Amino acid sequence: MNKYTSSRVEIDLEKLGSNVEVLLNLFGSKSLSIMGVTKGVCGDLEIARVLAHKGIQSLADSKIDNLKNMRKAHIQAELVLLRIPSLSEIDQVIKYADISFNTEMIVIKNLSAIASRNAIEHKIILMVDMGDLREGILPVDLDEFIREVLQLPGIMIVGIGANFACLGGVKPTQEKMNSLSLLANHIEEVFMLPLTYVSGGNSANYNWFITSEHMGTINNLRLGESIFLGRETLGRTRIPGLYTDVFTFVTEVIESKLKPSVPEGDIGQNAFGISPQFADHGQIRRVILGVGCQDVLVSGLTPRIDIEILGSSSDHTVVHAHETALKVGDEVAFDLNYGALLSAMTSPYVEKKYIHSSNDRLAAAKIPPFLRKKT
Ligand SMILES: *Cc1c(COP(=O)(O)O)cnc(C)c1O
Repeated sequence: MNKYTSSRVEIDLEKLGSNVEVLLNLFGSKSLSIMGVTKGVCGDLEIARVLAHKGIQSLADSKIDNLKNMRKAHIQAELVLLRIPSLSEIDQVIKYADISFNTEMIVIKNLSAIASRNAIEHKIILMVDMGDLREGILPVDLDEFIREVLQLPGIMIVGIGANFACLGGVKPTQEKMNSLSLLANHIEEVFMLPLTYVSGGNSANYNWFITSEHMGTINNLRLGESIFLGRETLGRTRIPGLYTDVFTFVTEVIESKLKPSVPEGDIGQNAFGISPQFADHGQIRRVILGVGCQDVLVSGLTPRIDIEILGSSSDHTVVHAHETALKVGDEVAFDLNYGALLSAMTSPYVEKKYIHSSNDRLAAAKIPPFLRKKT
């Protein structure tokens, strides 16, 4: 983590904890467990700790490095490798993941070999493709696949899962959930294989969950965005009772001038290879923020005040300040979408600052305003 940065993500651990509690209660009311998906926050340990402490028993990440950090930090949760493993990382999977998601026999055979050599049993969840066409075994191939896996030493199938609204945008409808549910039933019966996890999807499953009484055999969801940003992901509507401002992106004004709204001169390509177009609003207050595409996915930022992002390059973002009298040194706060969150949390140029809103409220109440330092 670089020490000198002018941009930061503020992470309100209090609001995060509250989101976790609300979601655990909500999904728990119909007996669904939650895997906390930490890939959107780069496996952040403070965040992982809050998730585990509030009662999430499994944490899932797509990067082995993130799982490794959690293991070393003794995070009290079962660690799950969310993205199907590549052949080149089998040793690490066995070492740092309690469970991995899988779809390829050759990978599972390699997992089996390494697990056996270490005299351990590695748990796997088989991903089934229910139509979204990202990862997954096709349902017609599932029986034969399982039959083969059951022959392998050191491997234990603990569940099946499906993914929706990821690549194909396919919705997790009641019909899709019924199919997955029946598939799980079928496997449990044919192979006498109890499935600890029948993982029905992600934050896109909220509407299905709310509108259907019977979950069938589905007993788990893998949630990232709802926990962190308080939204379901089919329409990006807020889930009642959740905070959507757990994360705040903050950056600083480095230039503020009245300038024309339209560039002057012959127009060629800009830094990103496009010829930009601008509407003429006469003279406007153009403000430059010391942040750019190197730091965060600028297109995923929404200002919390009435200003408008005009464009950005690698290290600058230019905004139309409208009526806001922004001056050099002022800080500007933004909401982040999932892409912006992911990029900011993985960026070495963005500081991560943890706050506890209730403590801060207490602290703020005690200090007279004129003594309050700008942070
Ligand atoms: C990212 C991911 C999730 C979490 O999705 P959200 O929309 O953030 O809830 C769940 N499952 C898999 C396989 C993923 O890759």
